[in-house]
Amino acid sequence: MTAIHLQGLTKRFGPFTALQPMDLEIRDGEFLALLGPSGCGKSTTMNMIAGMEKPTGGRILFGDRDMGAVPMARRGVGFVFQNYAIFTHMTVRQNLDYGLRMAGVDPGPRTAAMAELLGLTDLLDRPSQGLSVNILQRLAIGRSAIMEPAIFLLDEPLSNVDAAFRAVMRTELKSLQRQFRQTMVYVTHDQLEAMTMADRIAVMDHGVLQQVGTPLQVYNRPANTFVARFLGAPGMNLLPGHAVQSGSAVQVDLGPIGLTPPLPGPASGPVTYGFRPEEVTLDPASPLKLPVTHVERIGARCIVHLGPVKAVFPAGTEIPSGVVGFTPGKPCLFDAKGGRI
Ligand code: ATP
Repeated sequence: MTAIHLQGLTKRFGPFTALQPMDLEIRDGEFLALLGPSGCGKSTTMNMIAGMEKPTGGRILFGDRDMGAVPMARRGVGFVFQNYAIFTHMTVRQNLDYGLRMAGVDPGPRTAAMAELLGLTDLLDRPSQGLSVNILQRLAIGRSAIMEPAIFLLDEPLSNVDAAFRAVMRTELKSLQRQFRQTMVYVTHDQLEAMTMADRIAVMDHGVLQQVGTPLQVYNRPANTFVARFLGAPGMNLLPGHAVQSGSAVQVDLGPIGLTPPLPGPASGPVTYGFRPEEVTLDPASPLKLPVTHVERIGARCIVHLGPVKAVFPAGTEIPSGVVGFTPGKPCLFDAKGGRI
């Protein structure tokens, strides 16, 4: 097991800064997801950890060892990409064995064990050519995992497989990591993957690390409006307002929507008032009022649009028409720059 320390890690491509100085500790045996929208710098960060890209600044340490001068092949990392790297002229077994044989290690029972773990046993002697994308990606993961690397890096490994298979693989990847206890870094733009598998999530945007925390921490206590909006489907409601101090509490004037219930803590001036759609309740007595503008019924739940606000209820909920009162549940307050107060 190996911890990874990123210290002031920076990457520029010419005049463009893909990664602003980033400090991040990835713990021994931890499953850490790098999560963010396309272009936020996830793969660049990952490629530097793997040794495929050279940092412009900062340091990467595995344990207490500086990786600056260590080439990719000597870093001892396993790497799985979005596009499976499989030798199509080989059988499934030969693909699984390949790395061990190249390293001069007899695969022994390891191939059978890995095949069993990944449900590939019946396919071991099949040529890889002609296997489905789902199976090939599973094989790519197995081929890397069989080397039992102390650090396992996965860059969007499930983005090309179908949705049903993705759900199965989420569970399998997590149990793979539990079994081998590697330090796993997993790049994804899919919050569901990050939320379901990761011990901690590092949320990135525009080359800047926005927040690091457990899935529940980043969901329930987002550090800023970007994280609040990015996590959740739909994301957090964010309403502009004006904070008014009343004693030790704060109320937010949301203009025509109304004056919010009191919140703890000092705040004044322009703020953003955030609350999760699934925490909204309809309450005729609430001072906060908005009209029902649209109702989307999606399987087990319905999303109710109250003007700019989205609320999520169980599918069978009766939704009144016209103007309704609502309570926002547990709100978060953000300052004028979007940082959490
Ligand atoms: P995606 O999921 O789309 O790959 P990402 O978060 O992984 O997104 P990166 O691939 O790390 O993003 O790219 C971050 C930024 O750096 C992007 O704006 C990208 O265009 C830019 N970039 C990446 N590689 C290079 C390169 N070799 N030369 C110039 N710009 C690059």
